[in-house]
Amino acid sequence: RLEGLAHKVLQWYLCRMEGWFAADSDTISLKCWDQEELLPGGHGLMVRGYLPVIHTLAKGLDIRLGHRVSKIERRYNGVKVTVENGETFIADAAVVAVPLGVLKAKSIKFEPKLPDWKEAAIADLGVGIENKIILHFENVFWPNVEFLGVVAETSYGCSYFLNLHKAAGHPVLVYMPAGRLAKDIEKMSDEAAANFAFMQLKKILPDASSPIQYLVSRWGTDV
Ligand SMILES: Cc1cc2nc3c(=O)[nH]c(=O)nc-3n(C[C@H](O)[C@H](O)[C@H](O)COP(=O)(O)OP(=O)(O)OC[C@H]3O[C@@H](n4cnc5c(N)ncnc54)[C@H](O)[C@@H]3O)c2cc1C
Repeated sequence: RLEGLAHKVLQWYLCRMEGWFAADSDTISLKCWDQEELLPGGHGLMVRGYLPVIHTLAKGLDIRLGHRVSKIERRYNGVKVTVENGETFIADAAVVAVPLGVLKAKSIKFEPKLPDWKEAAIADLGVGIENKIILHFENVFWPNVEFLGVVAETSYGCSYFLNLHKAAGHPVLVYMPAGRLAKDIEKMSDEAAANFAFMQLKKILPDASSPIQYLVSRWGTDV
């Protein structure tokens, strides 16, 4: 059994794995955890966000935002899609690309119902959670590294901060909790969540100045 710093560093790696899978390590399949195939090449960060990509892809397409689908009916000659305000759309086919969590919440009614094997897969697969707490500072007081890590006795206590200053030039750190920690933080107010993230940062940078702005995601509860 590892002790001291070696133990804490192991917890840090577990914390990173939990971040990668957005789930606690005791819920990650030992048999299947390493199935994905990474594309070659390094990691990239969209410094202007994904909006330019989305705008380019969306050119010439009829895209309706704010249309929450509540029902999809398959008919002999196509599909009928109903949205929450009662409006309907008829099409030859529908490609359903909502996240697994939405399917698990059964907020879309399928007629006829989905095949048993698909319903079983939706029920059996777990859906994870990872959030972002974005801290905007007056100026940069941290080292010029890709990310800052805080090690601890448990993976729950470890922290990861993505340094947006290195990539995008803004004095911004992004704290990214996953799994049970993310769920616990979602129970806090935005102010308390941002303060929690800042306290984690203070553990390695005690002289850190308070953020001037923050933004807190709640991807586990906004379905
Ligand atoms: C914190 C975090 C960090 C991540 N970091 C990275 C990263 O660094 N690199 C990377 O490659 N991937 C990353 N990912 C993963 C990546 O974001 C997802 O894999 C990707 O966005 C999935 O795309 P998608 O189109 O399948 O689903 P989504 O992007 O979730 O799109 C689904 C869409 O369906 C819509 N929708 C839901 N319900 C309905 C409904 N009833 N009616 C109509 N529309 C509906 C939603 O509004 C949404 O627009 C990250 C994910 C998270 C949460």
